Amino acid sequence: MSALETARDQLRRAAERVDVDEATLSRLFEPERVHRAAVPVERDDGGVETLTAVRVQHDDARGPYKGGLRYHPDVTEAECTALATWMTWKTALVDVPFGGAKGGVRVAPEELSDAERERLTRAYAREFVRDFGRDRDVPAPDLGTDAETMAWLADEYERVRGDHRPGVVTGKPPVVGGSVGRESAPGRSVVAVADEACEYHGIDLADATVAVQGFGSVGATAARLLDDRGADVVAVSDAGGGVHDPDGLDVHAVPAHAETPNAVTDCDAADGGDRISNAALLELDVDVLVPAAVGDVLTADNAEDVQASLIVEGANGPTTAAADRVLEERGVPVVPDVLANAGGVVVSYFEWVQNRTRRPWTRETVLEQLDGHVLAAWDAVRERREAADCSWRDAACAVALSRVARAHETRGRTRPRATGRPTPERTPGERP
Ligand code: GLU
Repeated sequence: MSALETARDQLRRAAERVDVDEATLSRLFEPERVHRAAVPVERDDGGVETLTAVRVQHDDARGPYKGGLRYHPDVTEAECTALATWMTWKTALVDVPFGGAKGGVRVAPEELSDAERERLTRAYAREFVRDFGRDRDVPAPDLGTDAETMAWLADEYERVRGDHRPGVVTGKPPVVGGSVGRESAPGRSVVAVADEACEYHGIDLADATVAVQGFGSVGATAARLLDDRGADVVAVSDAGGGVHDPDGLDVHAVPAHAETPNAVTDCDAADGGDRISNAALLELDVDVLVPAAVGDVLTADNAEDVQASLIVEGANGPTTAAADRVLEERGVPVVPDVLANAGGVVVSYFEWVQNRTRRPWTRETVLEQLDGHVLAAWDAVRERREAADCSWRDAACAVALSRVARAHETRGRTRPRATGRPTPERTPGERP
């Protein structure tokens, strides 16, 4: 089941619970705009490779399009459409004034040198310079990109424009306008939400066993913060496999992917624990499972074998709609990505505000405000879930859809457009 099929299935289910205009609903099944480019990138050996790049803008009724840029060999327009749709729900759920978007380049980033990644990023920025803008579409890091990538993206955009617009990109390093706390924010919200969900389902997090798939920025931060809260993180993994120790791992001693690529893969049994495959990690008998690597890992094929009591999604789209149904029937609660990992886009919003006001916030302010947005979203989802007697995901999607639909109605977008929606006027040669 593809990510897009899953995203559409989720929307169909949410629509059954929300009073939403037919025209708005059919609009939300499709992205508003899709931008595609063939981007030529010069390799270090002088050869030129042309890569497929895309930016999908799903919806902007609540504010400028917002979402990450991923470098991954599986990137497709359809996958970015699913991810952009989830961004629309995510920004609505945590109530930040943005819509949803996602971009990507079909490439294996680990096969590029730093110089090649920089050339690719600058080429991507030039291709989409008219589509980005601090009030139009604001990219951020995602799979395969990081703060450094965002610095190049912002720099190239500003070079083309000829002025400073730091708010056009979020997730930048703090030295060039990034926010403190942005990098750890998605992992932090995963843990804040896991804490609430454990309490709700009668699991004592301070005594719980946890398995975390993925040791990138989300997985590593979540594993370490869970360990700090007293949980026993018994298994972690990266793309090459993982380690498992029923007595708990010292996750602070394992470098995250950005610190040492593939550190978990290279960690041998002597470091503590046994090797475990990614597939077996998902089926461990633990209290909490945090899939925080890639999408589509919990499927109809393995959902029956998941033994965790609670799943908290750190990655975007780790559970297919078919797996969701199996897990729901089996009574395994799944706290969805759009709620659990939304801390990233919340701090992206804080970064955007800091860039607009030219006033940096302290870490204390960032963390306090972050908790406020995430816990308010949790409360809204919990109330909806209790009122509708449905899954966490159905409740989250219903809350988000009702907010997005309300924005469409209030703007009068529900009526068919008589003359088409005006596109920003631009005279030839004018810079956006
Ligand atoms: N890529 C992140 C996500 O999926 C962050 C998006 C953003 O900050 O715009 O939530």
